[in-house]
Amino acid sequence: MEQQPLLNEHNKQEYPPMHTCEHIVNRTMVNLFGCGRAVSAHIERKKSKLDFQLPQAPETEDITRIENTVNEVIAQHLPVTTEFITQQEALGRFDLKRLPENASDTVRVVKVGDYDECLCIGKHVENTSEIGTFKIISSDYKDGIFRMRFKLI
Ligand SMILES: [Zn+2]
Repeated sequence: MEQQPLLNEHNKQEYPPMHTCEHIVNRTMVNLFGCGRAVSAHIERKKSKLDFQLPQAPETEDITRIENTVNEVIAQHLPVTTEFITQQEALGRFDLKRLPENASDTVRVVKVGDYDECLCIGKHVENTSEIGTFKIISSDYKDGIFRMRFKLI
């Protein structure tokens, strides 16, 4: 019988559609702006907030592009799958700096189709068809931080 991998407890109960959408938004930002994944996140059922470090404020058409890209990904009805690997295997493939100090040797990779993969122990939907439509409510830019607020409709 296979040994059950030990994982760190997740510190918050996330709403799976919102949280899975967060993965897609992160990858979309990385792809469109060449930035890193969010530096700060507040994910709630009704609305969420993500902060990204960007050298300049995105234009209005950039915001539209983020929204459209995320919705195109959701509309592909991609399966969300998980895979367990060791921290050693994760080296070079993922940013291990984000792992807590006491992280177990086994880490979990969460994949949204072939669009995104990252280390995560949160709760996800099984398919992006469960997410709904991504809508940016507002955004602002201050001191190198682009903040977007969004909801699912
Ligand atoms: Zn996750």
